[in-house]
Amino acid sequence: AAYTSRPITENDNSDCPPDSGALGRATWTLLHTMAANYPETASLEEQRDMKMFIKTFARFYPCWWCAKDFRKYIASQEPQVESREKLGWWMCMAHNEVNVKLGKPEFDCNNWLKRWKTGWDDGRCD
Ligand code: FAD
Repeated sequence: AAYTSRPITENDNSDCPPDSGALGRATWTLLHTMAANYPETASLEEQRDMKMFIKTFARFYPCWWCAKDFRKYIASQEPQVESREKLGWWMCMAHNEVNVKLGKPEFDCNNWLKRWKTGWDDGRCD
């Protein structure tokens, strides 16, 4: 691919600095991928640490209105951290809550592991 240089200050919709959309896409990638690689059966220590991670994440996520609603969600839907399957579903439902809020289609959570770990049946990954 041809390399074209451009001034780094140019506003060209790059992720610099990230807006809430770019931040969100990157963050969901991390969160779902983390769930997809969580232990299939988590030890008590892993469960405790994941709960703490989610709580701390929700405290410091740098889109304050997103974080505020996410904290409310966590308070009403306790994070399910016993296993990969449960954490993945919980994360998927949490993401769907935001999708609904933003008027986006809900994702079929039966497919979360395909989307974030094993790949679609036709080999796509998107
Ligand atoms: P995204 O919603 O970022 O999704 C990326 C990809 O994930 C999709 O292409 C799809 O393949 C997959 N996907 C979609 N839904 C699911 C699901 N349920 N489970 C698994 N995979 C899925 N933005 C706001 O404007 N207001 C908010 O209040 C807000 N709150 C947020 C809270 C959190 C915790 C996070 C991480 C992000 C939040 N965002 C919020 C950002 C928002 O969710 C999107 O990331 C952003 O709007 C970009 O959307 P997108 O359409 O590119 O895809």
